[in-house]
Amino acid sequence: MSKQDKIVLEDYQHARECLWSGEYERAGKIYEECSRYFIETGDVAMYAKSQISLGITFEEMGSRDMAMDCYLQGLRYVRANGLDAYEGVFYQSIGNCFLVLEDYQRAAKYFELGGQILEDAKNYTDIYEKWLAVSYLNLGAAYLKLGEYDKSEEVFLKGLAKAREVGNTYYEETIIVELCRIRCKRGDTKFFEENREYLISGLKTEEETPTDLFFTVSEMLALLKETACYDEMYKVLTDFENIIVSIDLPNMRVKLYELYMDYYKTVGDGESYKKVCVKHARYCKILSDKERLERIRAINVKIDYEEAKSSIISANSISGVDGLTGLKNRHALNTDAKRIIAECDDTKEALLVMIIDIDCFKGYNDTYGHIKGDEILVEISDIISSAIKDIGYAYRFGGDEFVVIVKNPLKNVGDRIATELRSHLHHMSIKNEASTVRSELTLSIGGYLVKEPWKYSFDELLNNADDALYVVKESGRNDYRIVNS
Ligand code: GH3
Ligand code: MG
Repeated sequence: MSKQDKIVLEDYQHARECLWSGEYERAGKIYEECSRYFIETGDVAMYAKSQISLGITFEEMGSRDMAMDCYLQGLRYVRANGLDAYEGVFYQSIGNCFLVLEDYQRAAKYFELGGQILEDAKNYTDIYEKWLAVSYLNLGAAYLKLGEYDKSEEVFLKGLAKAREVGNTYYEETIIVELCRIRCKRGDTKFFEENREYLISGLKTEEETPTDLFFTVSEMLALLKETACYDEMYKVLTDFENIIVSIDLPNMRVKLYELYMDYYKTVGDGESYKKVCVKHARYCKILSDKERLERIRAINVKIDYEEAKSSIISANSISGVDGLTGLKNRHALNTDAKRIIAECDDTKEALLVMIIDIDCFKGYNDTYGHIKGDEILVEISDIISSAIKDIGYAYRFGGDEFVVIVKNPLKNVGDRIATELRSHLHHMSIKNEASTVRSELTLSIGGYLVKEPWKYSFDELLNNADDALYVVKESGRNDYRIVNS
């Protein structure tokens, strides 16, 4: 590890402390710098971690959109770099955004997807193992909210084993609370009795953010309330208060007093209830002033982040690779095309230019979401790559358009490529309810086969292929058309 690496890792640790003490802007800036550093040094795994931490920081600052932006950016990047397991990690973060927004169905979907990827991921490291525990905890919580107790219990049990295996007491404690709740709901209090001492012996604050701690505490209080353990409720509340007072975050104070209000209401202590209401109101006011500042700070971090992102994107475009699909990009196409046309001139060979466009893809995104849309773009890139392997070049032209170039094409090679792509996609039978063509995803393809390409500019060749594509689109899509010069 280089000296610079060490400094950055120390900074990274420091950012976590900032997160706990409410210095969000500082935490955000450090994570953002770490992200940039790890991209430059090619440490994609650490990049992914920094990106997730940056997203969590935005979430703590109340900027969910910015957080989502971070996760999607991270997701694209790890995909383009083949770090499959980290896709699973980003899906956990995305699912969590939905969980907080109380869209439990969507949350469960992302947790399932992410958990599956993590389970399938080869070459486990400690990080993946830990994330696998997180994914079980998340998925179990989503199922619990959906009232699917059996599924929830099954996942929590896996999570408990994993949390113990990696020695993370925070996940262990939270999962035990959830398991107690499920079993008590069924009238089985044995598991709760066995774990009662452990649960109220003190809160585990290991590694997590105040928001995570709040989640555990509120679940624990719900359990104790359901089982009428009022003294224990009070003990958990005072433990939580000691932590919250020491870090002094107004949003946590507000949450703390809300928990106290609920407690005093439950035990019927009107005097104490009124006192807490006064404290609660005071901190609500402090919070609203602070949130305004926090928003400004979040925007500050975001500006730096955007600048870093655009430098990554421009680095990608200069390197000629499309960040999402891993295909060569438009920048590379322009450079390659000039060279290829010159080569054709030398050898007097023909050239085939094809444009492949997904039908009704906007509707697909609108129906199934952008993330699914991204996955489709990657899958289609893969089938294009395999169809032209050893005979031509493929590029992501932009959006849902791809370009293929074949030098010295054999007879009917355009028809063969188009037919192979369409039949491959047909066999995959990917649903697209938004399609005006049929209820599956389809492609339209236009091609131009030119005998003497050196007599034209590349733009002219591309325009001719585009004209052919236009005819296909106009006559109902889901077809191809290759024209000859
Ligand atoms: P047509 O059949 O006429 O081609 O219809 P279309 O909806 O495919 O065409 P249009 O050009 O209107 O929309 C292309 C869509 O591609 C718009 C946008 O939603 C989607 N898109 C572009 N880039 C990306 C991307 O990087 N990821 C995802 N998921 N979608 C993208
Ligand atoms: Mg399209």
